[in-house]
Amino acid sequence: MDYAGRRARALQALAGPDLPALLVTHPLHVRYLTGFTGEGFLLLAETPVLCTDRRFEVEAREQAAGCQVSAPEMSHVQSLIAAVQEAALPRVGFEPDSLTWAQHTRVAEALPEAELVAVPRVIEALRLCKEPEEIALIAQAAALADRALEELLPALAPGRTEKQLAWQFTQSLLEAGAEGVSFAPIVAGGPHSALPHAALTDRPLQNGDIVVLDLGAQVGGYCSDMTRTVVVGDPPGEFAERYGAVRRAQEAGIAALAAGRSGAKVDRAAREVLEEAGLGEQFSHGLGHGVGLEVHEGPTLSRLSTATLEAGNVVTVEPGIYLAGWGGIRIEDLFVIEETGARQLTAAPKL
Ligand code: ZN
Ligand code: ZN
Repeated sequence: MDYAGRRARALQALAGPDLPALLVTHPLHVRYLTGFTGEGFLLLAETPVLCTDRRFEVEAREQAAGCQVSAPEMSHVQSLIAAVQEAALPRVGFEPDSLTWAQHTRVAEALPEAELVAVPRVIEALRLCKEPEEIALIAQAAALADRALEELLPALAPGRTEKQLAWQFTQSLLEAGAEGVSFAPIVAGGPHSALPHAALTDRPLQNGDIVVLDLGAQVGGYCSDMTRTVVVGDPPGEFAERYGAVRRAQEAGIAALAAGRSGAKVDRAAREVLEEAGLGEQFSHGLGHGVGLEVHEGPTLSRLSTATLEAGNVVTVEPGIYLAGWGGIRIEDLFVIEETGARQLTAAPKL
């Protein structure tokens, strides 16, 4: 990964508000800008300073090439303050989404001469367009999840509980070489399938259950995300029609993916299909979201989205319908937006 290039682009973005430095406090942003996987903060400046502690000193020196490493016996905030003092910075930006009120107070008190400026979502904006290496890791995570799902499907039988199945998926992923799951697996059987984000239970699957499987793997810090809906035994009434409508909605959403297209428009394309099928009300969430170091990040595909897709974005397309008492259906795949169209990263078969 080109961490120095990312730091250069971040500093360039800060030149707009005329800031020479940024206090990077979001843990994933420290990793994104340095490669460092331990705990600490980064003073992003011409000479970047990684502020960690003795526990992570070895990793910091190994991983954060091009950064000065500071690992004194003090809190990460204190060492960040010391780095700002050392660099004699008159103005410094901070990340308002991750610097806590208590930390901000300490920094402001310790640096009465320095102006602290909130600069929201600078690094988030850089993360939107993935580099080829990032896309390769996401694709690898998606492929491992595809394989673990394939191993899981024969185990979906009456008597197996949601927790047992989630554990089996996790085990397959770890054995296949993933770092782990990218989020707690969702295995939602029967009535639970009507909950878009169901929590795992000890309920055993029964004949006739719809099962929503929302699963992801993590590789090199990068996430994948995919959902499949299957049925144990005989499907409940109207399953085939409703599944077909969700499938057609997903196809319409996928066909709408293009660089330059707004996130709201892609959502619209899929939503119209479900509205025409009389299921618009049951599609109770946005169509998709970005995936990267976080399983939910920008850009968003929804009615409220203000994003415009760009080549290098990685997004899900996941229409779903939820009918209390009957069950739910969601189908989710992962795509990378390219100059011409979109390339699918998930490959598990659908009904
Ligand atoms: Zn998902
Ligand atoms: Zn998702």
